[in-house]
Formats: sequence, C-alpha cells, structure tokens
Amino acid sequence: MKAIQQAMSLPKNMMMALTSNYCEKEHVNEYGYAIKHPLYKADLLGTAYEQYGTQLICLQCLKEERDAAFVKRISDEAIEREKHKRKNTLHYASVYSDQSIADAGFKNFEVATPEENKNKEDALKAVKHYRAKFEKEANEYFTTMLTGSTGVGKSHLAMAMLRNLNETLDAECAFVNVRRMLMMIKKSWNDQKYPYDQMYFIDLLSRVDFLVLDDLGNETGSDSEAKQWVKDILTEALEARQTKGTIVTSNYTRDQLTKMYSEDRAVNALISRLLKNTAPIVFKETNDKRVKLFDLDAPIEEETE
Ligand SMILES: [Zn+2]
Repeated sequence: MKAIQQAMSLPKNMMMALTSNYCEKEHVNEYGYAIKHPLYKADLLGTAYEQYGTQLICLQCLKEERDAAFVKRISDEAIEREKHKRKNTLHYASVYSDQSIADAGFKNFEVATPEENKNKEDALKAVKHYRAKFEKEANEYFTTMLTGSTGVGKSHLAMAMLRNLNETLDAECAFVNVRRMLMMIKKSWNDQKYPYDQMYFIDLLSRVDFLVLDDLGNETGSDSEAKQWVKDILTEALEARQTKGTIVTSNYTRDQLTKMYSEDRAVNALISRLLKNTAPIVFKETNDKRVKLFDLDAPIEEETE
C-alpha cells in the first residue's frame, strides 16, 4: 500500500519518463471525473514491484484491486461472525424449563422400549426432511409434534433434533419453553431493564429457522392476562413461521390443543395451520423417566444411630 502511494507521488515528468502508455481502464476520481492513469514499467518502480517483472502496470488498478480484496476480506469476516452468532442463538437465547435439556442430544437419549426406539428413529427421519427442505429453501414445511405425558422424554428428543439441525445447517435455532417465556415476560413488566419482553420473544420466535415450542398448552392454567400474551405472541410468530420448521412438544393431543385455543378465532386458525401438516411422535407407553418407582415391599431400613 505504502509503495503504491510513494510511486504515485512521483513527479509528473518522472511519470512520463517511465512510460508513454495509459491504462485502458476508466478510473473515476472522487469528483466523478474519469482520470487517465499512466502505465509504469514495474522494474523501474523499485523492489516493491519485483513480482511484476518488466510488465507495464497501472498503480491505480493495483490500488483498486487491493482495496476490493480488503473490502471482501472485511465482509467475509462479517459474514463469518454473523454465521457464528446465528449458530449461537440456540445456546444463548433458548429458554428451558429444566436446564438439563440444554445438554440433550440423540446420543444421550436412552432407549429402553420399542416405542422409544421408534420415536427416536422418527425424530431422526424428521431431521432429514427438515435438512432437505432447508437446503432447497422449500416454502412448504411441516410441524413435528411430540406428545405424551410429563417426563417421557419429549423435550429431550425435540432438543436433540434442534441440536442436530443447528450443527449440520447454517440455520438459526431456538428452544423456547412456553411457561418459562411467560414468566420472563411477566418479569419484564416490573423491571424496565429486563430485556426479555413480549417484543423480544415475538422477534425470536418469528426469526429463527427452526423453533421448538416446548410444552404448548400448559400455559392455559395461568391467569387470563398471561394467556392473552401467549395468544398475541403465537399469532404473530406463527404467521411468520409458515415457511419454517416448527417442533412442538405438548402433554395434549392435536385435537385437545385445537380445542384449547378455539375460543380465539385468530389463534385457532393459526394453530390449525401449524398443526395441519403434522408429523406426530407419540409417547403412549413410556412412563415418566425421571420417576424412580419406590418398592413398598422392600425391607424397611433400620435406623442406625
Ligand atoms: Zn488502471
């Protein structure tokens, strides 16, 4: 860069002595005027131009090439940073009901029954479909719906799917437990500095390429104000998610959920659309994995003093 500047500041007569040819490219100066730039014999410009041998070179062309390369490098770095940031959304923006879900993957999903085995296989198949759709930028998506009672591993499997998508695609993903989201929004009402308000979640839920809505329907036990927030957020987010992949976990069946939101026609229409094209993964036989059954017939432990 410095060598170019030095060479360009050579006296005019010196320039002319070096060459009588001009660069064919039309170089425009900062005022918009086309300026003719002379060509120099590289070997007369000093050691900084050795690589050009005895070629005729235009210093302005060199400068512009270097500037363009510089801009490209900067923008490549920005793109790389942005990708990195997108990949990190899963880790910094996810909201779990139980922190152990953050580490859930296919590898640590314990399979003990045929049902669990089938559900894991189905989840892997769903991931393959999502990957294919994302790669060809499909407009039509489907919702994976994991249902069954509490503690059977729905959230674990949903997170495993999301983790896999996050690792294999340049996609932004987030896992959001609906009840926890509500608690955070409530907090934002009393604390002006707390950033996780309704707008924040509408943006997050609408923006990400793949979303897990964890424990949908469970918020209906909360107060009517909270229920209204969920409806507002879902209305906006689901509208934006029609061409994106959504994974839902719920204790309720598809029909129960549809009924639950039926009193609000706008939400109901969106929920119906969300669940219209659904891949169901159902846990019927699996019991709460977190509960260890206590055997009442076990010998009574003697108190030791
Ligand atoms: Zn030039």
